[in-house]
Amino acid sequence: MDKPTIVWKGSPNFGDRKGYKPLAIVDHIMSGTLIGTDSWFANPSSKVSSHFGVGKNGEIHQYVELTNSAWANGSVNKPNWPLLIPGVNPNYYTVSIEHEGASGDVMQEAQYRSTLALHRWLMVTLGIPVTGDTIIGHNRIDSVNRSMCPGTGFPWDRLFKDLIGGSDMLKVAVLLYTKEDFWAGTDVAAKNGNCAIFVRPADHSVPADAIGAQKLIVVGGPTTNHPNEVLLSGNDKYQTAAAVAKYLG
Ligand SMILES: [Zn+2]
Repeated sequence: MDKPTIVWKGSPNFGDRKGYKPLAIVDHIMSGTLIGTDSWFANPSSKVSSHFGVGKNGEIHQYVELTNSAWANGSVNKPNWPLLIPGVNPNYYTVSIEHEGASGDVMQEAQYRSTLALHRWLMVTLGIPVTGDTIIGHNRIDSVNRSMCPGTGFPWDRLFKDLIGGSDMLKVAVLLYTKEDFWAGTDVAAKNGNCAIFVRPADHSVPADAIGAQKLIVVGGPTTNHPNEVLLSGNDKYQTAAAVAKYLG
Protein backbone atom coordinates (compact mmCIF):
# COMPACT_ATOMS: atom_id res chain seq x y z
CA MET A 1 0.00 0.00 0.00
CA ASP A 2 1.57 3.24 -1.16
CA LYS A 3 1.12 6.35 0.93
CA PRO A 4 -0.52 9.04 -1.18
CA THR A 5 1.30 12.35 -1.65
CA ILE A 6 0.26 14.54 1.27
CA VAL A 7 1.26 18.17 1.83
CA TRP A 8 1.61 19.08 5.51
CA LYS A 9 -0.11 22.38 6.37
CA GLY A 10 -0.60 22.11 10.12
CA SER A 11 -3.14 23.72 12.43
CA PRO A 12 -2.99 24.97 16.03
CA ASN A 13 -6.48 23.51 16.55
CA PHE A 14 -6.10 19.98 17.90
CA GLY A 15 -5.94 17.94 21.08
CA ASP A 16 -4.70 14.54 22.16
CA ARG A 17 -6.73 11.37 21.76
CA LYS A 18 -7.23 10.76 25.49
CA GLY A 19 -6.12 7.18 24.99
CA TYR A 20 -8.69 6.36 22.30
CA LYS A 21 -7.75 4.76 18.97
CA PRO A 22 -9.30 5.98 15.70
CA LEU A 23 -12.04 3.53 14.76
CA ALA A 24 -13.79 5.40 11.94
CA ILE A 25 -13.16 7.83 9.06
CA VAL A 26 -15.58 10.77 8.94
CA ASP A 27 -16.08 12.46 5.55
CA HIS A 28 -16.94 16.16 5.26
CA ILE A 29 -17.57 18.82 2.61
CA MET A 30 -15.75 22.14 3.01
CA SER A 31 -18.54 24.29 1.64
CA GLY A 32 -15.59 26.27 0.35
CA THR A 33 -12.15 26.06 -1.22
CA LEU A 34 -9.01 24.20 -0.18
CA ILE A 35 -7.08 27.48 0.13
CA GLY A 36 -9.82 29.01 2.28
CA THR A 37 -9.84 25.90 4.48
CA ASP A 38 -6.02 26.08 4.83
CA SER A 39 -6.28 29.57 6.29
CA TRP A 40 -9.40 28.86 8.39
CA PHE A 41 -7.72 25.86 10.05
CA ALA A 42 -4.51 27.89 10.54
CA ASN A 43 -6.47 30.49 12.52
CA PRO A 44 -6.58 29.68 16.26
CA SER A 45 -9.79 31.66 16.70
CA SER A 46 -11.69 29.38 14.28
CA LYS A 47 -11.26 26.54 16.80
CA VAL A 48 -11.82 23.98 14.00
CA SER A 49 -9.65 21.61 11.98
CA SER A 50 -9.63 18.22 10.31
CA HIS A 51 -6.85 15.72 9.71
CA PHE A 52 -7.01 16.05 5.92
CA GLY A 53 -8.41 18.20 3.13
CA VAL A 54 -8.73 16.96 -0.45
CA GLY A 55 -8.84 19.54 -3.27
CA LYS A 56 -10.78 19.33 -6.50
CA ASN A 57 -7.43 19.00 -8.30
CA GLY A 58 -6.53 15.95 -6.22
CA GLU A 59 -4.13 17.71 -3.84
CA ILE A 60 -4.20 16.33 -0.29
CA HIS A 61 -3.39 18.61 2.66
CA GLN A 62 -2.85 17.47 6.24
CA TYR A 63 -3.53 19.71 9.24
CA VAL A 64 -3.37 17.42 12.28
CA GLU A 65 -1.25 14.35 13.05
CA LEU A 66 -3.16 11.06 13.16
CA THR A 67 -1.99 10.56 16.74
CA ASN A 68 -3.89 13.73 17.73
CA SER A 69 -7.58 14.55 17.56
CA ALA A 70 -8.81 17.14 15.07
CA TRP A 71 -11.66 19.50 15.94
CA ALA A 72 -14.18 18.43 13.34
CA ASN A 73 -16.89 16.23 14.88
CA GLY A 74 -17.21 17.56 18.40
CA SER A 75 -20.90 18.31 18.58
CA VAL A 76 -23.26 15.35 18.75
CA ASN A 77 -26.85 16.12 17.78
CA LYS A 78 -29.45 13.41 17.05
CA PRO A 79 -26.73 10.96 15.89
CA ASN A 80 -27.36 7.92 13.70
CA TRP A 81 -24.17 5.98 14.35
CA PRO A 82 -24.05 2.74 16.36
CA LEU A 83 -20.30 3.06 17.15
CA LEU A 84 -20.80 6.36 18.98
CA ILE A 85 -19.40 6.14 22.51
CA PRO A 86 -21.84 7.92 24.82
CA GLY A 87 -20.39 10.90 26.65
CA VAL A 88 -17.05 10.79 24.77
CA ASN A 89 -16.12 13.45 22.22
CA PRO A 90 -16.10 11.70 18.78
CA ASN A 91 -12.98 13.66 17.82
CA TYR A 92 -10.99 11.35 20.13
CA TYR A 93 -11.78 8.24 18.09
CA THR A 94 -12.22 9.44 14.50
CA VAL A 95 -10.13 10.63 11.54
CA SER A 96 -11.62 13.47 9.51
CA ILE A 97 -11.35 14.19 5.79
CA GLU A 98 -12.65 17.47 4.35
CA HIS A 99 -13.44 17.78 0.63
CA GLU A 100 -13.24 21.00 -1.38
CA GLY A 101 -16.55 22.09 -2.84
CA ALA A 102 -20.18 22.69 -1.97
CA SER A 103 -22.68 20.18 -0.63
CA GLY A 104 -24.31 18.54 -3.65
CA ASP A 105 -21.35 19.10 -6.02
CA VAL A 106 -20.62 16.09 -8.22
CA MET A 107 -17.11 15.03 -7.22
CA GLN A 108 -14.45 15.47 -9.93
CA GLU A 109 -12.38 12.46 -10.96
CA ALA A 110 -9.05 13.77 -9.63
CA GLN A 111 -10.60 14.53 -6.24
CA TYR A 112 -12.27 11.13 -6.14
CA ARG A 113 -9.04 9.27 -6.94
CA SER A 114 -7.16 11.11 -4.21
CA THR A 115 -9.76 10.59 -1.51
CA LEU A 116 -9.99 6.92 -2.52
CA ALA A 117 -6.21 6.55 -2.17
CA LEU A 118 -6.32 8.38 1.17
CA HIS A 119 -9.14 6.18 2.50
CA ARG A 120 -7.24 3.05 1.40
CA TRP A 121 -4.04 4.16 3.07
CA LEU A 122 -5.80 5.16 6.30
CA MET A 123 -7.67 1.84 6.47
CA VAL A 124 -4.40 -0.10 6.18
CA THR A 125 -2.41 2.24 8.45
CA LEU A 126 -5.02 2.42 11.21
CA GLY A 127 -6.62 -1.02 10.79
CA ILE A 128 -10.05 0.42 9.98
CA PRO A 129 -12.30 -2.07 8.14
CA VAL A 130 -14.67 -1.16 5.28
CA THR A 131 -18.16 -1.04 6.74
CA GLY A 132 -21.04 1.39 6.62
CA ASP A 133 -20.30 2.30 10.25
CA THR A 134 -16.52 2.75 10.04
CA ILE A 135 -16.56 5.09 7.01
CA ILE A 136 -19.29 7.63 7.61
CA GLY A 137 -20.51 11.11 6.81
CA HIS A 138 -20.49 13.95 9.35
CA ASN A 139 -24.30 13.90 9.17
CA ARG A 140 -24.28 10.58 11.05
CA ILE A 141 -22.87 12.37 14.13
CA ASP A 142 -24.91 15.58 13.84
CA SER A 143 -28.03 14.99 11.77
CA VAL A 144 -29.47 18.39 12.69
CA ASN A 145 -26.87 21.07 11.90
CA ARG A 146 -24.65 18.93 9.63
CA SER A 147 -27.30 17.07 7.64
CA MET A 148 -25.73 18.38 4.39
CA CYS A 149 -22.19 17.26 5.28
CA PRO A 150 -20.82 15.78 3.08
CA GLY A 151 -24.09 16.01 1.10
CA THR A 152 -25.81 14.26 -1.77
CA GLY A 153 -22.86 14.63 -4.19
CA PHE A 154 -20.58 12.43 -2.10
CA PRO A 155 -19.88 9.20 -4.06
CA TRP A 156 -20.63 6.67 -1.32
CA ASP A 157 -21.61 3.78 -3.61
CA ARG A 158 -18.54 4.09 -5.77
CA LEU A 159 -16.24 4.58 -2.78
CA PHE A 160 -17.47 1.45 -1.00
CA LYS A 161 -17.32 -0.57 -4.20
CA ASP A 162 -13.72 0.49 -4.83
CA LEU A 163 -12.68 0.04 -1.19
CA ILE A 164 -14.16 -3.44 -1.03
CA GLY A 165 -12.16 -4.35 -4.13
CA GLY A 166 -14.55 -4.56 -7.06
CA SER A 167 -12.43 -1.96 -8.76
CA ASP A 168 -11.60 -1.55 -12.42
CA MET A 169 -8.56 0.60 -11.63
CA LEU A 170 -5.23 -0.26 -13.15
CA LYS A 171 -2.73 -1.13 -10.42
CA VAL A 172 0.09 0.74 -12.07
CA ALA A 173 0.56 2.64 -15.33
CA VAL A 174 3.33 4.55 -17.09
CA LEU A 175 2.65 7.98 -18.56
CA LEU A 176 4.96 9.37 -21.25
CA TYR A 177 5.19 13.07 -22.04
CA THR A 178 5.84 12.41 -25.72
CA LYS A 179 6.22 9.40 -28.00
CA GLU A 180 9.98 10.09 -28.00
CA ASP A 181 10.07 8.73 -24.44
CA PHE A 182 8.77 5.35 -25.54
CA TRP A 183 12.16 3.65 -25.29
CA ALA A 184 12.29 4.53 -21.61
CA GLY A 185 8.62 3.75 -21.04
CA THR A 186 8.92 0.14 -22.17
CA ASP A 187 11.79 -0.48 -19.74
CA VAL A 188 9.87 1.16 -16.88
CA ALA A 189 6.74 -0.84 -17.75
CA ALA A 190 8.79 -4.06 -17.91
CA LYS A 191 10.03 -3.39 -14.38
CA ASN A 192 6.35 -3.11 -13.34
CA GLY A 193 5.01 -6.35 -14.79
CA ASN A 194 4.60 -4.92 -18.31
CA CYS A 195 1.93 -2.50 -17.12
CA ALA A 196 -0.03 -0.20 -19.40
CA ILE A 197 1.76 2.73 -21.09
CA PHE A 198 -0.01 5.98 -21.96
CA VAL A 199 1.29 8.89 -24.04
CA ARG A 200 -0.01 12.40 -23.40
CA PRO A 201 -1.97 13.81 -26.35
CA ALA A 202 -0.81 16.96 -28.13
CA ASP A 203 -2.44 19.21 -25.51
CA HIS A 204 -0.44 17.33 -22.81
CA SER A 205 -3.58 16.46 -20.82
CA VAL A 206 -3.50 13.27 -18.75
CA PRO A 207 -5.66 10.38 -20.04
CA ALA A 208 -8.41 9.39 -17.57
CA ASP A 209 -7.25 5.75 -17.33
CA ALA A 210 -3.75 6.93 -16.42
CA ILE A 211 -4.90 9.32 -13.67
CA GLY A 212 -7.22 6.49 -12.57
CA ALA A 213 -4.39 4.02 -11.95
CA GLN A 214 -3.53 3.24 -8.33
CA LYS A 215 0.10 4.21 -9.04
CA LEU A 216 1.30 6.37 -11.92
CA ILE A 217 4.91 6.52 -13.10
CA VAL A 218 5.42 9.75 -15.05
CA VAL A 219 8.28 9.82 -17.57
CA GLY A 220 9.06 13.38 -18.70
CA GLY A 221 6.99 16.51 -18.27
CA PRO A 222 5.47 18.08 -15.16
CA THR A 223 3.76 16.44 -12.19
CA THR A 224 0.20 15.18 -12.69
CA ASN A 225 -0.77 15.62 -9.00
CA HIS A 226 -1.65 11.91 -9.01
CA PRO A 227 -1.80 10.76 -5.36
CA ASN A 228 0.71 7.94 -5.93
CA GLU A 229 3.00 9.45 -8.53
CA VAL A 230 6.59 8.46 -9.28
CA LEU A 231 7.99 11.42 -11.23
CA LEU A 232 10.92 10.55 -13.50
CA SER A 233 11.50 13.89 -15.12
CA GLY A 234 14.16 16.56 -15.57
CA ASN A 235 14.53 19.90 -17.30
CA ASP A 236 15.51 18.26 -20.59
CA LYS A 237 15.57 14.83 -22.18
CA TYR A 238 19.03 14.10 -20.81
CA GLN A 239 17.96 14.73 -17.22
CA THR A 240 14.82 12.66 -17.80
CA ALA A 241 16.97 9.85 -19.21
CA ALA A 242 19.19 10.05 -16.13
CA ALA A 243 16.14 9.87 -13.81
CA VAL A 244 14.85 6.83 -15.68
CA ALA A 245 18.27 5.15 -15.59
CA LYS A 246 18.46 5.71 -11.83
CA TYR A 247 14.96 4.29 -11.35
CA LEU A 248 15.80 1.22 -13.42
CA GLY A 249 18.94 0.77 -11.36
ZN1 LIG B 1 -18.63 18.27 8.38
